[in-house]
Amino acid sequence: MRREAYGQTMSELPQERRVVTEIPGPISRELHARRLDAVPPGVGSVLPVYVTDAGGGVIVDVDGNSLIDFGSGIAVTSVGNANPKVAEAVAEQAARFTHTCFMVAPYESYVSVCEALNRLTPGDHEKRSILVNSGAEAVENAVKIARYVTGRDAIVAFDHGYHGRTLLTMTLTAKNMPYKHGFGPYAPEVYRMPMAYPFRWPSGPENCGPEAAAQAIDQISKQIGATNVAAVVIEPILGEGGFIEPAPGFLPAIAEFCKANGILFIADEVQTGFARTGDLFACEHEGIVPDLVTTAKGIAGGLPLAGVTGRAEIMDKVHPGGLGGTFGGNPLSCAAALAAIDVIESEKLTERARWIGETMLPRLGALAARDPRVGDVRGRGAMIAIELVKEDGITPNPELTAEIAGRCHANGLLVLTAGTYGNVLRFLPPLVIPEHLLLEGLDILDEAFAG
Ligand SMILES: *Cc1c(COP(=O)(O)O)cnc(C)c1O
Repeated sequence: MRREAYGQTMSELPQERRVVTEIPGPISRELHARRLDAVPPGVGSVLPVYVTDAGGGVIVDVDGNSLIDFGSGIAVTSVGNANPKVAEAVAEQAARFTHTCFMVAPYESYVSVCEALNRLTPGDHEKRSILVNSGAEAVENAVKIARYVTGRDAIVAFDHGYHGRTLLTMTLTAKNMPYKHGFGPYAPEVYRMPMAYPFRWPSGPENCGPEAAAQAIDQISKQIGATNVAAVVIEPILGEGGFIEPAPGFLPAIAEFCKANGILFIADEVQTGFARTGDLFACEHEGIVPDLVTTAKGIAGGLPLAGVTGRAEIMDKVHPGGLGGTFGGNPLSCAAALAAIDVIESEKLTERARWIGETMLPRLGALAARDPRVGDVRGRGAMIAIELVKEDGITPNPELTAEIAGRCHANGLLVLTAGTYGNVLRFLPPLVIPEHLLLEGLDILDEAFAG
């Protein structure tokens, strides 16, 4: 199944790892020096190799190195970088018109992307969607809509959550350094609740779901008052927080509490959406039907686009002109999204994501079994992580995490780190990565742990 099911529109780049210089190589280092005179260090790069081409499962740099991509530009290029169908759709659109502003003179592709979002997101109720530019902007708009419709102020976010870098979404984000430090004061009426983090739950993973839900519900009720809460904003698998899968039962309990109290449930599927977790949306795993869903990253094959999709009766309430933006739903991004969605559906990338998980999890499980520094292996589909710890089996080990990531990079495997404690290695390969590169990447990771 898997071989026929993917890769019909595969990159023409040679699908090989090739390390021909130090990484980063001399030309990348030269470019990096130039960059430091032009770009402030506040904008970082995980691995400053300067890219010339990318596609399938590889990224090629200016020095001629070809790296295996376990990052997908942070879960964005799920259909592969420069996927031929996406590239063709964008080129065609660019030759016709590049912008009119949907709020000035509209065009069909915006409507088609919204129809696709309404069709594909969880729940068979009537839906509406708006398009914006980034994940953060989608979350901002979901909160605006929730406050408008409920007439309430309070927004609930969770420990280890990440929702973006704008004032409101930085406030919703849990982690101080680097996202919030020095950037306050923060937006008002944001409250943070416990997250069901199985690996670090004091009474053990088996109690985590119900206990965390009970704590969160008690705190919402007693500290904020349920009738003051407009919405909860939650990632169905936490992204930057370290691919924490909320313990079973936690999300359904929160969703049920929301429903009973007129609180809108906003699923932030910016990182988890569009087949990444082996379902089209991660909420489907426990049958959650959110009131509002935010999408971005994997939606448009690398072009900037984001969406808010919600129940028609919620979305239709906001007054005309209350929502929008100059670039939101740009025609190039819409053309890319329609092509990417077509690839995801016709090439069965949810199945492909599941196969990636089924391939990675046993390999990482074996690594954890022989190396006690791997404390936890988790994730679903092509959103997989390992959490690294010290000898006691629980204390976070961010130093080792950085060291392993560095060894992977030096050997031509691009991996990302994550987590509140900086001790998580996360893997987000393009869903179209060829099998031999996925396996070679896992070999490199094994070698990095072997020292
Ligand atoms: C990346 C991310 C965002 C922010 O998206 P941007 O496009 O970077 O603004 C919001 N929520 C989640 C869950 C994310 O992973």
